[in-house]
Amino acid sequence: MRVVGTAGHVDHGKSTLVQALTGIDPDRFDEEKRRGLTIDLGFAWYTLPSGLPIGIVDVPGHERFIRNMLAGVGAIDAVLFVVAADEGWMPQSAEHLQILDFLGVDRGVVALTKTDIAGELADAAEDDVREHLRGTALEDAPMVRVSAKTGDGLDELSEALDEALRALPDEEETGRVRLFIDRSFTITGAGAVVTGTLSAGRITVGDEVTILPDKRRARVRSLQTHGEQVQTAEAPRRLAVNLVGIDRRLIHRGDVIVCDPWILADRFAARLFAARELRHPLKQKGAYELFVGTAQTRCRLRFLEEVDELAPGSSALAIISTDLALPVIPHDRFVIRDVGRWETVAGGYVIDQDPPKRLSGADSYLDDLRAREGLHGTVLAEWILQRDLVMDQERLMMLAGTGPRQVGKARLDMMVDGFYFARGSREMLERRLTDALAAYHEAHPLAAGMPLSEAKDVLGIDACAVEALFAEIEEHRGVDVDGNVVRLPGHSGPELTVAERNAANRALRMLRDADASPPELDNVGLSQQLARALERAGELVFLTPSIAYPSDIWSDIEHRVVGFITDNGSATVSQIRDTIGTTRKYAVPLLEKLDATGVTRRKGDVRDLGPRGRDLAAKIAN
Ligand code: GDP
Repeated sequence: MRVVGTAGHVDHGKSTLVQALTGIDPDRFDEEKRRGLTIDLGFAWYTLPSGLPIGIVDVPGHERFIRNMLAGVGAIDAVLFVVAADEGWMPQSAEHLQILDFLGVDRGVVALTKTDIAGELADAAEDDVREHLRGTALEDAPMVRVSAKTGDGLDELSEALDEALRALPDEEETGRVRLFIDRSFTITGAGAVVTGTLSAGRITVGDEVTILPDKRRARVRSLQTHGEQVQTAEAPRRLAVNLVGIDRRLIHRGDVIVCDPWILADRFAARLFAARELRHPLKQKGAYELFVGTAQTRCRLRFLEEVDELAPGSSALAIISTDLALPVIPHDRFVIRDVGRWETVAGGYVIDQDPPKRLSGADSYLDDLRAREGLHGTVLAEWILQRDLVMDQERLMMLAGTGPRQVGKARLDMMVDGFYFARGSREMLERRLTDALAAYHEAHPLAAGMPLSEAKDVLGIDACAVEALFAEIEEHRGVDVDGNVVRLPGHSGPELTVAERNAANRALRMLRDADASPPELDNVGLSQQLARALERAGELVFLTPSIAYPSDIWSDIEHRVVGFITDNGSATVSQIRDTIGTTRKYAVPLLEKLDATGVTRRKGDVRDLGPRGRDLAAKIAN
């Protein structure tokens, strides 16, 4: 449903006009609530001549206007700008126009009201209004003279609204459920009821929801919209939500109903505009209050560009820090008021609700912000993905502020375990990894490969995505993952320098000379690193961390043990010890290793042959 908001100086006839158009008194809330009849939504609705149903938001009072206009966050499609023909343009007319501009409302109809009492003043008022609208988004808005009292001009006004709204592009799914709460109260027998504008997504009776920022859980018991109970409601729409499982005293104006995870930001990057009619330039220092959705919080400004102050009407990229954490998304509109003078001094839109912690050397970040500020939906999701290369779907939706359908349209390289890989990212990451591995092999010729944890750091992507990526790269043999190390498939293992080779040969000779009872590695001048390299090269077999056999000796020992058991049916530890001519110190770990590798099999105090032992026995027999 299309939503129209009213704007205009107090007492210029907004509520009266809405009632004349719709037959609904937007002010009836208090009385009806007392009578417990229906939940008023500060909202009136009717059908335009073309059959298009529209809602009109009209909450009286100047202070409430700003909050009211923001309440829908993007849900207002057009404005009904009211100016009394007998009074003409007034200060609040100007402030409302400025706020509409900040909110990006660039479409609407001007109603010149009270023509029944304005007489000749109406012509002057019309000129005056035209003059003030010049150069603004409403410059070409149609202007209709009406009287709510006599009904003159009401049909033309509806026609004009119809025209303005028909020209809007089709509504499409804009994102995940978000509803800024504007009121909460208790209805006897029903419990907590909140009202607000559902600006995106769809809520259904029975849904589990979360109320931010406290992250309290509740369930939707019933929904009411336009005076009717409904099972499900789709954005944009004014809504009353009856919640169970939560105490209404824990819900406040400005809280937000969501159904999915959200980023709560107390710092975001934005395009900030200084108000056009400011008397002083906008400074970073100052006591400011930020309004977004129905939330309101103290905030601080930091201009990102090289400016100390903003001239009226100019703009800059800025970081806005807030006292309250807010579930904002890109393109959310906000308004900033000066707390001391209590006037609207700035406004703008959110660009990035997750700016880097440190902004030193922020030039590239500025470029980022400029590049993305005009992007929406799928295109923005693609841009973010291209920047970060890999991201899980949930986070991408949070950052782009879009729903699954829009994110789902993003062009990808691949998707694994819910992770989206940007176009070309897999190749790029794989190259990043293989380059690093090549350098690593070069720098550490004795190592079997790069430790897995280091390889993951090299990729610089989310730890869970790394797992998915590795599985993918390993599958097509881009790299070899071997236990805790990663290497290039061509990396055949350690390459020894001449000095290392000489040391290794010397040590192997000494070990071989000692047959089944070799000295400890330290005593033959083998470092652990060199010994492990020889193990990987298949030249050494470890028994314990300090004892190892040259592999030919080990193979000989295996043969002797298998031969003995084949001849005798089984063997005890001391028989083995004697057969291979060593001591208990070697025989015990040796048999454990033979058991572990399936050469022997332990049965109480004796051993017979394991599966590999039987294979060996068969080979020996042949
Ligand atoms: P709002 O503050 O802009 O919502 O203004 P209201 O709708 O409350 O109207 C303010 C006053 O102007 C009320 O006393 C209305 O009765 C009166 N009024 C509103 N529209 C008209 C109109 O078209 N003609 C006349 N004569 N009075 C009007």
